[in-house]
Amino acid sequence: MDSLIKLDNVNKSFFSSLGETKVLKNISFDVNNEEIVCILGPSGCGKSTILNILSSLEDITKGEIKINCKLGYMFQKDNLLSWKNVKDNILFGLKITKKNTLDNQRYALSLANKYGLNDFLNYYPKSLSGGMKQRVSLIRTLSLKPDLLLLDEPFSALDAQTRLSLQDDIYTIIKEEKKSVLMITHDIYESISISDRIIVLSNRPSQIKKEIRLPFKNIKPNQRRKMEEFHQFYKEIFDLLANE
Ligand code: ADP
Ligand code: MG
Repeated sequence: MDSLIKLDNVNKSFFSSLGETKVLKNISFDVNNEEIVCILGPSGCGKSTILNILSSLEDITKGEIKINCKLGYMFQKDNLLSWKNVKDNILFGLKITKKNTLDNQRYALSLANKYGLNDFLNYYPKSLSGGMKQRVSLIRTLSLKPDLLLLDEPFSALDAQTRLSLQDDIYTIIKEEKKSVLMITHDIYESISISDRIIVLSNRPSQIKKEIRLPFKNIKPNQRRKMEEFHQFYKEIFDLLANE
């Protein structure tokens, strides 16, 4: 089957009066249908740049990119509008993309209901927990019916306990809705908890150090963390990154 997205030997440099900064070097990978792929690498190695390239915010310097599906975005901060309640925040995605039909509104609110937001529709973001805000943000993104979600460190602004339970929530929603994901993170634990495949990047200029396929299909993050294999993968990846 064709990949949903594919990068082929992508290079990316930024140019300034001080010269060239090489960020990505010969990056090739793909994401298949209903797969969760994590890009893991040290801070500043170019992870967000990969998402910016996929969302057409940045050009590439060399190589090729293929996008065969509809993309959705969810970022580190929830980006909710403080003056709108949960319901209007969820519907706002449809409004700004001019897809605010009754059918689409119904779909968005059915997702909110299915994933436990019904009692919070009249709440404003300031009275929601960090985890709940990220859940609202995910439902807003899903309302636009993307095939593949681009997630930029979606758990990094949360406290440790919320992070763990939200990973389970988001994993469940993604699998239930049969979505594909490209998520970036610098957190080894997070990458092993949630993904089917991890692409480990080196320091800048980033190259792929290793691609690791995990054997945890359909096992939730909280369960994975109790498995022996989890800790073996942690050690393997820790050693890979420690040699950077
Ligand atoms: P990460 O997300 O892995 O922390 P980024 O992709 O944000 O890293 O950045 C990678 C490198 O590229 C950093 O050194 C950063 O300073 C540089 N960079 C990112 N965006 C720009 C830009 N628009 N102009 C110049 N340099 C940039
Ligand atoms: Mg980043």
